Amino acid sequence: MSEDLGAVIDEIMKSVEGDVSREDVESNLRKFIDYGVPVEQAKQAVIKKYGGKQAVQVVQKKLGEVEPDDRRLSFIGKIVAIDEREVEVRGEKKKIFRGLIGDETAVLPFTAWKDFGLEQGEVVRVKNASAGEWGGQPRLNFSEWTEVEKTDEQVDLIKRKPQHYDIIDLKPGLSNIEVKAKLLTMEEREVSVEGTIKKVYTGIMGDMTGKIRYTSWTDFGIREGDVVEIKGAYTKSWRGAPQLIFDENATVEKIDEDIAISEMSKKSIPIYKLVEAGGGVDVAVEGVVIEIQSGSGIIYRCPKCNRAISEGVCPVDGEVEGIPDLRIKAVVDDGTGAVNAVFNRETTEKLTEKTLEEFRGMNDGEVEEELKNLLIAHPIHVEGNALSDEYGVTLIVQDAEMVTPAVEQEREELLSKMEVME
Ligand SMILES: [Zn+2]
Repeated sequence: MSEDLGAVIDEIMKSVEGDVSREDVESNLRKFIDYGVPVEQAKQAVIKKYGGKQAVQVVQKKLGEVEPDDRRLSFIGKIVAIDEREVEVRGEKKKIFRGLIGDETAVLPFTAWKDFGLEQGEVVRVKNASAGEWGGQPRLNFSEWTEVEKTDEQVDLIKRKPQHYDIIDLKPGLSNIEVKAKLLTMEEREVSVEGTIKKVYTGIMGDMTGKIRYTSWTDFGIREGDVVEIKGAYTKSWRGAPQLIFDENATVEKIDEDIAISEMSKKSIPIYKLVEAGGGVDVAVEGVVIEIQSGSGIIYRCPKCNRAISEGVCPVDGEVEGIPDLRIKAVVDDGTGAVNAVFNRETTEKLTEKTLEEFRGMNDGEVEEELKNLLIAHPIHVEGNALSDEYGVTLIVQDAEMVTPAVEQEREELLSKMEVME
């Protein structure tokens, strides 16, 4: 014991300067040790007491090896995020910096108790940091005694585990996505990217919850009809709807599993999901019609460009002989959100059980009255593609039907059963 302490005292003597007696150092050291302070910590405390430079025994670690009680840590990491905030320490306002630092083994949160001038994306060599625990994970502390210096070394960050999404939950701006889906359609195209011809694969994929347009920038050897698991994809907004994109940074694996797609087009989704996604492919919603907008009923289209015209004048082609058409522009609301819905002639005729010719026999007021009576405040199921523009999300209706309230449906079923019994 005393032999061990002799070596420790030697080290302390080397670290402190000026007139310090060996006896004083020893008695101070013993005091700490008698109080149960571990030898290493006692040594540091005595050195500090005499104003010596702490003999920093650096512990070089990868961030993935850091444990919550580590001291005198040294490591190299990349600043992933940094955020300045003001806190009150003993009644005094103090600026602290919180952020994330990472290397190829982990990304850890840190708190810097002074301004090291850290910037996002920088690679830094950190000496004499410590670790605490926060939410069961190590959290690094950069204190007054921590040294931080910028370095030119490269740090590749650990790859985050991709996050699994159902297609219904995809919206523009997500990254590192994992989805399992069936490739419902696939087209191969060639595009020129910075002078070189690249093959791209586009189409629509679906799972049990919905469909989305996709683009693959790499030939993964996948074909229409395949069920695939994609990891590391991202989303962007394309022509007013979300699109899933994957390239050589993603992994795509064909899996031996089928996904039942047939049922899903009938399954309606909450409208807020559609608004959040900013559109979608082949979606269905159910809500109540709260408004019939102007431009509904009989309209005339330009024979050359198909635009809706007014008073026989096309904004592009001038005076033309308009072709009559039928449409409804409505707002459908399900309590979670609202979308514009545009019904073409076919769906309008189906819903109203009236033909274009029959509508042409009525005046504008009668047509409006007819549409309002039929639709306003009535529940409706609509399907189609949804796009977003400056007016919000618009569903281009491909199919629609009035929703029969459950009570009426039950009564009808009951009646038909009675007919069978007779
Ligand atoms: Zn025209």
